[in-house]
Amino acid sequence: MKNVGSLMQGLKDKKVPCRISGCNNTWIWTGEDQLKAMSEGHRDPPLKMCDRCFELFQNFQDREEPCSNSDCPNTWRYNRIAQVADKINKRKSIPKRLCQACMDSSKSIEAQHIPCKISGCSNTWIWTGRDQMVSDSSTPPQKMCNDCYATFKTLEDKAQKCKIKGCDNTWTWTRISQLENIKKGRKNPPRKLCDSCSEKMNQLNDIELNCRVEECSNTWVWTRFSQLEYSFTSHSEEKYPLRMCPECSELYSQLSDLTHKCRIPECNGTWTEKRGSIFARKKSGQSVPRRLCDSCYDQLNDFEDKEISCKYEKFGCTGKWKWKRETQLRILKKTGSLPDVEPVKPCPVCEKFMHEHSSGKQIICSQCSKLMLTLSPEDLLRIKLGTRENPEEICNECRAAGINKSPL
Ligand SMILES: [Zn+2]
Ligand SMILES: [Zn+2]
Ligand SMILES: [Zn+2]
Ligand SMILES: [Zn+2]
Ligand SMILES: [Zn+2]
Ligand SMILES: [Zn+2]
Ligand SMILES: [Zn+2]
Ligand SMILES: [Zn+2]
Repeated sequence: MKNVGSLMQGLKDKKVPCRISGCNNTWIWTGEDQLKAMSEGHRDPPLKMCDRCFELFQNFQDREEPCSNSDCPNTWRYNRIAQVADKINKRKSIPKRLCQACMDSSKSIEAQHIPCKISGCSNTWIWTGRDQMVSDSSTPPQKMCNDCYATFKTLEDKAQKCKIKGCDNTWTWTRISQLENIKKGRKNPPRKLCDSCSEKMNQLNDIELNCRVEECSNTWVWTRFSQLEYSFTSHSEEKYPLRMCPECSELYSQLSDLTHKCRIPECNGTWTEKRGSIFARKKSGQSVPRRLCDSCYDQLNDFEDKEISCKYEKFGCTGKWKWKRETQLRILKKTGSLPDVEPVKPCPVCEKFMHEHSSGKQIICSQCSKLMLTLSPEDLLRIKLGTRENPEEICNECRAAGINKSPL
């Protein structure tokens, strides 16, 4: 026995996988048992269960189960090994199997090619005679083809971000849906709402709102989707967003900034009218505004409006007129410098008076209707200002003659 003893020392214990498919445990094949097997002419380890499976095995009994062909009264044997395997693989229901007689007769049923259940896939899978006999129905079940199933097994459900901007929830992109995406040749995942958002959305209705443009009486539709997104993204106090109706948006989209000439004719500068202002102007039917260019606006700050005494100060007017800074700027632009002496102009009151009395006034004798004299506009202004006397309305002759015969 000396030989055997030294041989034993050379054989180490070995871990061997459990015979139950789906079980990842091992059992120990001792050196001693290996030696025994060798002496009986076996090189491969025997089929054995791990301790856990063996314990299950011991508590099970072989059972007779009804044949899965519903028309058949026979049974098939559900043995203990199969029960352990089903338990380990977490299969809850008893497998569908045929009795031996049905199994034999199923061989004569022709297999059918059934289209793959994945939309976008044009392959088929084979519905065997056996599976047809097991099935309760004559219509085939929904199944994937082998190709799809192989791909399916490599996939995992994925959490995708909710489609609503601002929502941090996710929805589950199932393996099946991923597979369909692949089969349809789509690159991007579908965009969907998370459960909470889709629940909220179901409680919303589209709303019609007034156009944000005051002069416009049209409306626009605030969709449920947009309402939901607004609840996440809006930081404003406004309950509703301010938007344009489709027509206004269309008009607005067609507009772009415009360049206009400076309102000082002698200036070559321009100013820009913004799109928004153009839009408002068109809506209210106003004409293009006349403005100074930026450089003129800046230059304008070098000037000040000046109060200048009325040209008729000499006649006693105390009024003033305003020499506006833009007028000063205009003179500068036109002549290159400002005049040394301030311009001479009537005050607005005098100007108006002179205008209204531009043809002067004829003084006619109230007795004999003889034209006595013509007063110029300036004369009239002086009379108004009190620096000239109002002329008598009777001629010398009539006065001389009429001292004694004054009217009754
Ligand atoms: Zn096991
Ligand atoms: Zn049967
Ligand atoms: Zn397929
Ligand atoms: Zn969401
Ligand atoms: Zn509008
Ligand atoms: Zn200008
Ligand atoms: Zn005046
Ligand atoms: Zn007279």
